[in-house]
Amino acid sequence: MSQRLTPLEIMTKLISFPTVSRDTNLPLVDWVEGYLEDHGIVSHRWPDPEQPHKAALFAHVGPDEEGAVVLSGHTDVVPVDGQPWDTDPFIVTERDGKYFGRGTCDMKGFDALAIWALVEAQYADIKRPVQLALSFDEEVGCTGAPPMIKAMQKVLPKGSAVIVGEPSMMQAVTGHKGGFGFSTHVVGFEVHSSIMHTGVNAIMSAAPLIDWANARNSENMAALPSDLASVFDPPWTTCHVGMINGGTAHNITAKDCRFMMDFRVVPGEQISRWRDAYLDQVRAVEAKMQAVHPEARIDVTETFGVPALTPETDGEAETLVRALTGDNASHVVSYGTEAGQFQEAGYSAVICGPGDIAQAHQPNEFIEVKQFDQGHQFMERLVQRLSQDAR
Ligand SMILES: [Zn+2]
Repeated sequence: MSQRLTPLEIMTKLISFPTVSRDTNLPLVDWVEGYLEDHGIVSHRWPDPEQPHKAALFAHVGPDEEGAVVLSGHTDVVPVDGQPWDTDPFIVTERDGKYFGRGTCDMKGFDALAIWALVEAQYADIKRPVQLALSFDEEVGCTGAPPMIKAMQKVLPKGSAVIVGEPSMMQAVTGHKGGFGFSTHVVGFEVHSSIMHTGVNAIMSAAPLIDWANARNSENMAALPSDLASVFDPPWTTCHVGMINGGTAHNITAKDCRFMMDFRVVPGEQISRWRDAYLDQVRAVEAKMQAVHPEARIDVTETFGVPALTPETDGEAETLVRALTGDNASHVVSYGTEAGQFQEAGYSAVICGPGDIAQAHQPNEFIEVKQFDQGHQFMERLVQRLSQDAR
C-alpha cells in the first residue's frame, strides 16, 4: 500500500507546481491523479479543448450512488511577478505560526485537505459518497468550472452538497453577488473638430453609456434593498467603469474609445436583465452614431460572467457545514466564486475554507497554521460523518 501523505505534505507538493493561471496545470493534475490512483481511486480529467495545457480533475469515492458531498477547489494561482516575496513563493515555508507560499490561502491549502479527505474516505467505510472537483482558470474569471461541472455530471453519479473551499476562516458563507463585464469598443468617425457635426466622436459617444451607469448606481443606491440584497455591502447592484482609453488629438473627433464596464449584481436580480439593459443602451447610442455616419459602431465582448450565490433556505450544503463547524452566524462575501456556478447547475452550495481572503493574491501569501489545522479537523469530522449516516 502506498504511503498516505499528511495535509501539509500534500499542500507542499501542490504549491511546488507553479500553476499560475496563464501557465499549464498538467503537472499538478498528473500528480494528483497518480496519488489518488496509488490509493485505488479512479479520477477523471476534463482536458480543455481550447487550451491543451490545462485540465480539470474530478473523482468519486464511496457507494456508487447519487448524493455525494463535493469538495471543490481551483488549481490555478495568481502571478507573483513584481511582488516582493521574502521566501520562495513555490516552497511552503513555516514561520511565526504561518505557512507562507503562493496558494497556501487561495486555495491549495483547501485542495490539499480535500485530497487528504478523499484518500481517508477511501479507507473508511463511508455510507455516503464524497467527490473531489479541481478546476482551473478560476482566477481569470471562473471560466474553468462550468465545463468541468458538465463533464462531472456525465461521468459521476450526481453529487448534492458542494463545499467550495475559498478562504472564509472556516465559516459558512452562503451568498455572494454575481458579476459580469463587457469590454466595450466604440468606433467613431474621424473629422476635424471644427466640423465635428459631420464626424462621430467615440469618446463623446462612450460618455452617455458611462453616464447611464452613474444613473443606475444612484437609482439603485436610493432604492429600498430586497431581503436577499440587504445583507450585502453595498446592498445594491453596482455598475463600474475601471478603465478607459481613447482619442488621438484634441482637435480630432475620436476614432476609438475602449472601456471596461463591470456589474456586480445582488442575488435575486437577474444577471440577464442587467446584461440586456446595458446592451439596449449600447444599441440606442449606436443608432445615433450611425445616423451621422454608417461606419460608426459599438462592439461589445463579454469578458466574464459569474452567477451569484443565492443564500438557500435550509440549504443542504449550509446545514452540513454548520453541523461540522458549529458556526451558526450568517456570512456573505463580496468576491465571486465557483459556488454560484455549482448552484446554477443544480447543487446546494456553500463556501467554507481555511484562511483569510485578505491574504489572497498578496506577496508573502500565508495561511495560519491554526486555520489549516481547523480545516484538517473539519475534514476528519466530515469523513466520520460520511461513515455514520447516508445523509
Ligand atoms: Zn480562490
